[in-house]
Amino acid sequence: DSLGPTVCVGEILVEIVATTIGGGFLEAQPLFGPFPSGAPAIFIDQCARMGGAAAMVGAVGDDNFGRVNTRRLAADGVDVSAISIDPGLPTGSAFVRYRADGSRDFVYNIGTSAAARFGWTETVRSLIGRAGHLHVMGSALSMPAAWDVIEKAVGVIKARGGSVSLDPNLRKEIRYDGETEARFAKLVGLCDLLLPSGDELERAAGVDGQEAAIGRLFDLGVGEIALKQGMDGATVFTRDGQSVHAPAFAVEEADPTGAGDCFGGAYVACRRLGSPIADALTYATAAGARNVTVLGPMEGAGTRAELDAFIASTERRV
Ligand code: ATP
Ligand code: MG
Repeated sequence: DSLGPTVCVGEILVEIVATTIGGGFLEAQPLFGPFPSGAPAIFIDQCARMGGAAAMVGAVGDDNFGRVNTRRLAADGVDVSAISIDPGLPTGSAFVRYRADGSRDFVYNIGTSAAARFGWTETVRSLIGRAGHLHVMGSALSMPAAWDVIEKAVGVIKARGGSVSLDPNLRKEIRYDGETEARFAKLVGLCDLLLPSGDELERAAGVDGQEAAIGRLFDLGVGEIALKQGMDGATVFTRDGQSVHAPAFAVEEADPTGAGDCFGGAYVACRRLGSPIADALTYATAAGARNVTVLGPMEGAGTRAELDAFIASTERRV
């Protein structure tokens, strides 16, 4: 990654988790948190922990929820100079409670928080001007401020020979408007690496069937596809028609949130550091699996040494 750091642009949140399983937040209940969170923040934290040069663009409020995030990211090696501190709005938040069937109830404060209010400042322009890679989370595409930065950053980074990755990260709970869908389609056509999960592959391609979707994405110009398959591991597809599969590691799941983001952070960091696909995939599946063993969305992100120890001591699922 000699060209410059991997940059991620988007929402920075705290997550506060209900400690009991049940339906939502209609009565007083025990909560655990705040944990640093937001898919882009989890991604960039794992990228830095893996040893990749990493920087974050976003905003927090001038409050403890903000400091929970900036301190963690900085401690893990992320360049936080382009995280702005909003003087007027609080840090974004997500309260989450798991239901018995594994689905989740959320109370979000994102759109009307500092998380959604940042832009193309001199500091951001300067960071992007020396960046080598941009990673985009689909969750940021519905935020106009994030889109403004992403659109400019893609142009600058591509022009200087850098690359772009996209994790569709389309939450089923959120309905996307036409404009967000158009931004998504535009980015699919521009990205060097796509990291879909489940049916996001077909959605990104706009075509039914895995094989047809992969063919269509390569026709659109995508360079490499890392398909996340949860308990079934992950498979990377390349333009030459080859694929590499890694089964998932066998772990006890304590908190599924953040698996996909950690997978992406480790995969992008490894590929940018020059690792072959198979090695990057081993670290990425380990990062995803390790993260689900710990409560809190990014609490289980691992350093390279921690992931080496995890890989050496953990069986693959068969
Ligand atoms: P998220 O729910 O964070 O959005 P995602 O849908 O983007 O996740 P997943 O496929 O769920 O992505 O997880 C990413 C990777 O992490 C998987 O490919 C797998 O290797 C690993 N992983 C996720 N969950 C588990 C699990 N329960 N056990 C082992 N490995 C897991
Ligand atoms: Mg995901």
